[in-house]
Amino acid sequence: MSTIDYQYILTSIHDRMVHGAGPTAEDISSGHVAAYIPELASVEPDQFGMSLQCLDGSVHSAGHADVAFSVQSIAKVPALLLALTIDPDEVWERMDVEPSGNAFNSLFQLEYEQGIPRNPLINAGALVVCDILISALKRPLEELYAFVHALSGDPSISWNERVAQSERAASHRNAALVNLMKAFGNIHNEPDEVLDLYVRLCAMEMTCTQLACTFGLLANEGRTLHDGKALAPPVMVQRVNAVMQTCGFYDEAGEFAFRVGLPGKSGVGGGIVAIHPRYYSVAVWSPRLNERGNSHLGMRALELLTADIGHTIF
Ligand code: GLU
Repeated sequence: MSTIDYQYILTSIHDRMVHGAGPTAEDISSGHVAAYIPELASVEPDQFGMSLQCLDGSVHSAGHADVAFSVQSIAKVPALLLALTIDPDEVWERMDVEPSGNAFNSLFQLEYEQGIPRNPLINAGALVVCDILISALKRPLEELYAFVHALSGDPSISWNERVAQSERAASHRNAALVNLMKAFGNIHNEPDEVLDLYVRLCAMEMTCTQLACTFGLLANEGRTLHDGKALAPPVMVQRVNAVMQTCGFYDEAGEFAFRVGLPGKSGVGGGIVAIHPRYYSVAVWSPRLNERGNSHLGMRALELLTADIGHTIF
C-alpha cells in the first residue's frame, strides 16, 4: 500500500459525493440530520469533509475537513480508552463486549440483562464508563479532555455547552438507563452527576482532521501519531478495535464490516472514524443520517475508500 495516492483518492471521493461526478455519484440530499437533540438540528446539512492520516504523519483532506462538528457517540471511544488505562478489569466486569442488535439507547435489554450493558459503545455502556471516571478521577471532565488533548496533540479540543445543555434537557431516556443501572448496583455515583459528564462527553467538537489524529493511536499500536507517545498498550488497542468492529455502528455494524471492512465508530452528529491498523486512521463527516442513524454519505465514502485502495482488514 506504499504507493497509494491517498490525496487523489480522497479528492475523487469528495467529487463523487458532493458534485455527483462519476459512475458512483451520490445524492448529497439523502437522509436527515438528527433532531432528537434540538441543538443538532440547526447544523447546515449539505456538508461533507474527510481526512486521512497515515502512520508517517502525512495528512490528506477533502471538503469540509476543518469544520468542527458534534462528535457525539464517537467520543465514547476516548472515554473507554481512559477508563481502560485506569482499571481494565473493572471495565470488563461492569459491561460486556457483545453487539446489542438493538437501538443505542434501548432499555429493555438492560432490564433483561440485569443492568450490565451489552458493550461500552451503546449509551448504557458509556454511562458506566462515565461512572468509572467519576469514581477514579478528582476532576473527571477536565482529566477526560486532557486525555483527548494528549491523544490529539491539540489542546483546543473542547465541548459545546449549548449542545450539552440541549441534550441534558432532553435526556429522559438516558436518565432512565442510568437510573435502571443504579437500581441494579452498576452505577456508583449520583445519576445526575453521571449524566452531566456524559452529555459533555458527547458534546465534544472536532474537525475531521482532529478526529483522524486523535484516533491515530488505534492504527499505531497505541502510540499517538503526533508525538509517538505510547498512551495505550497494544493489547488494549486490539480489543478496542475489536469492539468498534462489532459494536461501533448501532444496528448496522454487520453492514459496515461488509461494505467497508474496517473497525470504526459513528455518531449522530454525522461523523464516522475508521481505522486500518498499521496503515491509517480516517474521519469523515456529513450530517445527514440514514435510517439506522449512520451518516449516509460517510458510509458510502468509506466504502469507496477501501474499494479504491483495494484493502480492508479482511
Ligand atoms: N448523545 C447522544 C445520545 O445519548 C449520542 C448518540 C450517538 O451519537 O449515538 O443520545
